Amino acid sequence: MHDSLTKLLWQLSEAGEPAVLFGRQHAAEDDAAFQRMLALGVLVHGDRLTGWKACHDCDCGADERDVRWRRDVPFAACPADNRRDEVLTRDDLATFTLSIATMVSETAAALGLGPPEELAPGLWRLGRLTDGRVLTAAPIRAGILLPGLVAALRAVDAEGPIVLIGPRLPEVRRAELARQGIHAVPAEEVVVPVGHHPPLGFDLARLPDGNAGRHRLVLTPATSTVRFDGREAVLRPRPFQLLRILARQHRRGVPLVSRHDLHQELFSPGTADTAVRGLVSELQGLLKKAFGADAVEGLIENRTGHGYLLTLLPLTVWINE
Ligand SMILES: [Zn+2]
Repeated sequence: MHDSLTKLLWQLSEAGEPAVLFGRQHAAEDDAAFQRMLALGVLVHGDRLTGWKACHDCDCGADERDVRWRRDVPFAACPADNRRDEVLTRDDLATFTLSIATMVSETAAALGLGPPEELAPGLWRLGRLTDGRVLTAAPIRAGILLPGLVAALRAVDAEGPIVLIGPRLPEVRRAELARQGIHAVPAEEVVVPVGHHPPLGFDLARLPDGNAGRHRLVLTPATSTVRFDGREAVLRPRPFQLLRILARQHRRGVPLVSRHDLHQELFSPGTADTAVRGLVSELQGLLKKAFGADAVEGLIENRTGHGYLLTLLPLTVWINE
């Protein structure tokens, strides 16, 4: 699978402005996202290219070829041999500039936060999540490495966990920030996937919380392992999948999942409506067997007519993706 346009834009922003995207850089599958970025002003039409890369495997020695037009069709002209001319399209020649500030404010809007506050050049506070974490972003590499970063972040939120989204940091720097309650995560690990609407924003389930080692419930999908209050069990794939959905929604701060949504995600359309209830019972049975009836009593609550949820406190659940 190719990278999403959103991921591409966060990568592009690392070097700072001007950040230019070329016509051939985004995948056709992501065109809806691309049009949305233009409509929001995250991307702005730039100048059309007038030069094209040198001929491949040609001895004309040109560093760059001029773009010329034959009727309405552009082509890259080889100075020595017109049989080597390369036919282009209008889209090939298009350029788009990225507005980093607009990308940040539209990201906050997509998450229901904002407007963002610029704490220092290139450093934004997007807002506070319902679980208390403060979401911040420093998209430019030079900005995230500034010595005054911590002071700028702590000037507004003196205490509590802060999530900082931006370029990937060296491990030493990341650990140093974590000791001060600032949990840096690379944007590329948390941006919404291809096809998500709106195309901007983060998957809150994937954001760090600084509670490593203190989570009550930890799921490891690769091995279908569940750890609950320090004890481990391996579940069958289907019940594990159900628990994983509940855990994901819990981490997103919206723990209640409707029976309809669970049915849609876990079963084919022809399956009976009662299948969800059956799978929930199966999961509860397995958890009781693994961890004891008293330990898991009330862990999964059934809100009649609404759906199911994990009753654990916020930020006590983790998924090892
Ligand atoms: Zn040539």
